[in-house]
Amino acid sequence: MRRLVGIIQSITPARLLTLAGVCFGFVLSRLLKRPILFSSPSFLTVEPVCGCNLQCPECPVGTNELVRPRGQISLETVDSIIEHLGTKAIWVNLYFQGEPLLHPNLPEIVAHFSKRKIFTSISTNGLLLTAEMVDGLLEAKLKEIIFSIDGASEEEYLAYRKGGSFSKVVGNIQMVAAKRKAMGLLFPRIVFQSLITSANEGNLKNIRRFAKSVGADAVELKTLNLSHAADSNNLLPSKSKFSRYSNLGKKQSRLSCFRLWSNTVIAWDGRMALCCMDKEVDAICGEVFSYPINSWNSVQLNGIRARLLTGVDIPRICSRCSLHTL
Ligand code: SF4
Ligand code: SF4
Repeated sequence: MRRLVGIIQSITPARLLTLAGVCFGFVLSRLLKRPILFSSPSFLTVEPVCGCNLQCPECPVGTNELVRPRGQISLETVDSIIEHLGTKAIWVNLYFQGEPLLHPNLPEIVAHFSKRKIFTSISTNGLLLTAEMVDGLLEAKLKEIIFSIDGASEEEYLAYRKGGSFSKVVGNIQMVAAKRKAMGLLFPRIVFQSLITSANEGNLKNIRRFAKSVGADAVELKTLNLSHAADSNNLLPSKSKFSRYSNLGKKQSRLSCFRLWSNTVIAWDGRMALCCMDKEVDAICGEVFSYPINSWNSVQLNGIRARLLTGVDIPRICSRCSLHTL
């Protein structure tokens, strides 16, 4: 309900027209098997920080396997993104490869998007939240905060969130809920997000109950994205319905990926990634590829769209993608 209200508040005629153009362009592209774009993307992902305070075993940031430089976005880059894409975008995810609360100006970044009435969402491990930071985010009109917590007990939590503290995250969820209530606000929507792992797969009902009891508005259960085959033994749930890998290897029937028409992902240094699976930000052309140049409708990106539409020479990243079945 809160999410729907937030989205409705972000809708303008220009944004509605953009979304229609995104959908129509995608449908037409699939029919004609060549990329056609009528608009800029409706959905943005902007990376405030590349870097983290935790060491989660399947995250390239947590394991320090990510090769690209760490850093934090400047307010100039944020303003440049808003200037080029802000009037058409409905939604921005302010997270990608890292912990957004590490950015000292996060409330200011949120406020810049909120001023343009764009729905703002952050996803956090929740450990660095302070009372002052919560006040800043509420004042900045943050619309959604997703807590990655992965279970309803310290044991389930620590199976994945190495270096974290379950009780601290729970306390911080309660703090956000209490402050929101005290200020009589509808937002931010509080999401309790849990990866489904071998440690919690038998306890999903309890996770839902627990999330409600600590003040969350919604629960999101996510399948694990594995980077290390060895971890499939100790982290992957035993039931195949909880694994995003159960469909891999089956005949792939659906061509193309809507994300390449609807979403853009921009790293902290202003470079554009292909999508959220492009963690090294090197899938489009392997070099600097920044806004504000017209990257969205570039020869390079349209080349990738065409490869997906025709099914000929599908990029390696897409052929291994567990997010979309091609
Ligand atoms: S909290 Fe998020 S960004 Fe940090 S190591 Fe874990 S998965 Fe990676
Ligand atoms: S990697 Fe996956 S999500 Fe990204 S463009 Fe390819 S198919 Fe789409």
